[in-house]
Amino acid sequence: MKKLFLSILLLTLISNSYSLSFASARQNEADKENTPQLRLTFFKEMEAIYQIPWYYIAAIDQFERNIQPVRKDIPEKKGLIAIYFPGEKWAGFLHPNYEDTNPGRIQFFAGFGEDGDGDGKADRNNDTDVLVAYLSYLSRYGNTEENIIKALNDYYRNETTTKIISEMAAIYRTFNTLELYQRVFPVPKWNNYSYRSTWGDARGWGGVRIHEGTDIFAGYGTPVRSVSYGYIEILGWNKFGGWRIGIRDTNNIYYYYAHLTGFKKELKEGDVVKPGDVIGYVGSSGYGSPGTQGKFPPHLHFGMYKYNGRNEWAFDPTPYLRIWERNSKKNK
Ligand SMILES: [Zn+2]
Repeated sequence: MKKLFLSILLLTLISNSYSLSFASARQNEADKENTPQLRLTFFKEMEAIYQIPWYYIAAIDQFERNIQPVRKDIPEKKGLIAIYFPGEKWAGFLHPNYEDTNPGRIQFFAGFGEDGDGDGKADRNNDTDVLVAYLSYLSRYGNTEENIIKALNDYYRNETTTKIISEMAAIYRTFNTLELYQRVFPVPKWNNYSYRSTWGDARGWGGVRIHEGTDIFAGYGTPVRSVSYGYIEILGWNKFGGWRIGIRDTNNIYYYYAHLTGFKKELKEGDVVKPGDVIGYVGSSGYGSPGTQGKFPPHLHFGMYKYNGRNEWAFDPTPYLRIWERNSKKNK
């Protein structure tokens, strides 16, 4: 029974891999626009075989794509699938040759590598082999959300990474697409507002901290919108940020909206939002115990952070704000 299933699986993979290797060969050139659809199709086919939800497969692949440009020790993997196996992981730590592609020997040395497309080689640069290897690993844990989370914790040995991948999966599940690139300015353009680059300025409260964000000055109650598709990771009080919201997108950005006068009614941690959704209102909360406000003029403090699988750091949002502001004016 298992043999029959495996040969059907193999046949499916062989027929898939033809079109997929064709796709990855071309994808560096003019075919970029098709890439998200090809990926989505690939993930859904893999879901049918391995019973791992496609949105988890998408989140893992995108997570690896996100961290490669911000990590010196991981190369940027080319091709349709970004998941990267170092040689020792692929071939097996005790394997004398980390570049071996022989599936039998790799299995003997307990490497992750598998021959997914049936060409007799387990090649860590082959999209199908890579995805099959990762999904075989996951499916050994089972296919419930709890099983997947356990498998991810064991794989990355980092609970923040697992949490971020799960959040990305929730976003993909909600919107049923990989194309979540749209961004908007956080304050609707018909409101009066002003901002300038305040990156790195000294801050007035709470000791020596530099200003990690851009302040957008606007009146009390001005709507604050999510700039991106995202997952509400944090919503509540912080003594510095006051009533604040933290939203993570699928492209390695965490957005921080602070000093709000209040939140959009019924919005809560774990919710998924899209660009333009109102999440709260401009205020002057913060710099004290819960409810403190009025210690400075009302404004939205807007921060942006990146993550590399180990730590998170802030960068200047101002250039991005200028682009989104221009685009919002063009479109509406
Ligand atoms: Zn600020």
